[in-house]
Amino acid sequence: MISPLRFAHLPTPIEQLPRLGSLLNGPRLLVKRDDQTGLAFGGNKTRKLEFLLADAKEQGAELLITAGAAQSNHCRQTAAAAARFGFGCTLALAGEPPRQASANLLLDQLLGAEIVWAAPGERDRALRETFEQAQSGNRRPYLVPYGGSSPVGAMAYAVAMQEFIHQDCPADWIVFASSSGGTQAGLVLGAQKFGYRGRVLGISVDEPEDALKVRVAKLASATSVLMGEPIALTPAEVQVNADYCAPGYGVLTKHEREAIQLFARYEGLLLDPVYTGRAAAGLIDLIRKGFFKKEETVLFWHTGGQPALFAGKYQAELP
Ligand SMILES: *Cc1c(COP(=O)(O)O)cnc(C)c1O
Repeated sequence: MISPLRFAHLPTPIEQLPRLGSLLNGPRLLVKRDDQTGLAFGGNKTRKLEFLLADAKEQGAELLITAGAAQSNHCRQTAAAAARFGFGCTLALAGEPPRQASANLLLDQLLGAEIVWAAPGERDRALRETFEQAQSGNRRPYLVPYGGSSPVGAMAYAVAMQEFIHQDCPADWIVFASSSGGTQAGLVLGAQKFGYRGRVLGISVDEPEDALKVRVAKLASATSVLMGEPIALTPAEVQVNADYCAPGYGVLTKHEREAIQLFARYEGLLLDPVYTGRAAAGLIDLIRKGFFKKEETVLFWHTGGQPALFAGKYQAELP
């Protein structure tokens, strides 16, 4: 197994959400603060990058190349990790350059990343071309997978589950935002490997349930091989709720806004508009519907993303 570079602030703390819990009058609520992983505003990609950068270093790479949305948290954390360890960084971003960079995009630039813009359907081609150009220019590129969600990246969340188990915190449910699936694959694998008894529920941000379950199961199985103990996970063993993804990626509705406001106003805790806002909206809806038992404990695994609160596109909609 690859030994990770160490730069994340770990273990991340676990906190109670007593005021929000009593407002919603449901299960006991906790939060695990992976928004506080310490690298340029942190987030869940930081754990993955500890493993991905170790892999890049081992392969003798000099340049990290990855892709994402214009407001990608993954790209921002990759740019920061590259800066920290002396790699170059090129980001293929979907869309057009805005007149004024804000939020994650502003941070990408501040962190020194080179940005290649591509039309949404052309992003993967742009990524491939950028990679090939770097290769032929002898810049020794390393392709950081979309969302950091390769078996190497997902390993970090199996280890994170081990960290959580060592924190000895009884939680019947772990609920979080799931998108490219690396976080969930790692947590699901880690739950099996290290003996977590509760349930791991991913709230899909942008993917239909079946597609996400299949991806997570495949990724978790491949990750287990890399960790030296193959476990065949099936889609049926992966729990996904995709009831909240219909508006589409990055679209803020009244549900995300309410979730962001409740966490802010009852706990002083900031969520992001794309991922944790949507997952928390799902969590709140499930609590209101009585999905969890009152005597249960639900841990919301905060995956970060708050810089996107400052993105120009949300300025008018958020407050
Ligand atoms: C990337 C991201 C996620 C989703 O994690 P995956 O491993 O891609 O499923 C959730 N929350 C935030 C804030 C993210 O940036």
